[in-house]
Amino acid sequence: MEEKSDALVLRTADYGEHDRMLTLFTLRYGKVSAAAKGVRKTGAKLRFAAQPFCFAEYVFAERGGRRTVVSAANTDGFYALREDLRKFYAAASLCGLCDVLLYENIVTEELFLRAVNALHAMCEGDELEALLAFFVRALALSGYALAPLACAGCGAPLDERAYFDAAEGSFTCPACARGAGVSASTIAVLKKCEGAPFKEERATEDGEQRALKLLYAYFRVKTDARVTAVEELLRLF
Ligand SMILES: [Zn+2]
Repeated sequence: MEEKSDALVLRTADYGEHDRMLTLFTLRYGKVSAAAKGVRKTGAKLRFAAQPFCFAEYVFAERGGRRTVVSAANTDGFYALREDLRKFYAAASLCGLCDVLLYENIVTEELFLRAVNALHAMCEGDELEALLAFFVRALALSGYALAPLACAGCGAPLDERAYFDAAEGSFTCPACARGAGVSASTIAVLKKCEGAPFKEERATEDGEQRALKLLYAYFRVKTDARVTAVEELLRLF
């Protein structure tokens, strides 16, 4: 049986002499594995389709749940992501997060579209901002939504320094303090990610970096998984 879907390459693993196993985020079938045969030969026609971050329309041959890539029509290779180290690790982080958060064969159209849009945004603009906005939404769509950005104890709005409980995913004000301290710039960046009003002058790069640390700590508690690309990205600052 043949299947066709837009898909994004999340992960690749070489096997055999010339072959590569792909983990793909497909629009129609969710996360799937597919063999890409002969793609490591020089001049292989489907070489592009077996690269990380490749976004293409794939045709698979499916037999007994095993898929093989038959053909692919390139939509976007996101080449700008390969030419800048920070963009590369931001994109690899997005793919790694998807790989952990997605279950095999479960369709999540919204997350797919957001992933593709975030990779576009990373190519053209602030890669960290795009990654953070995606991260917040991906957590929510996976059942790990952060609590609202208000104090979980007394309901006070959070504007200054606050506290974050990574086990609960909730924030508290200094008077109710539960968990680890969070800077005012981190709060501003998280508000920006959620489309809430935020203080422009506070959404600094330092705040972005701290927000990524916070989200990743929370992700680690919830999934018990690691995404090495996020750790590499944090080391680049
Ligand atoms: Zn409070």
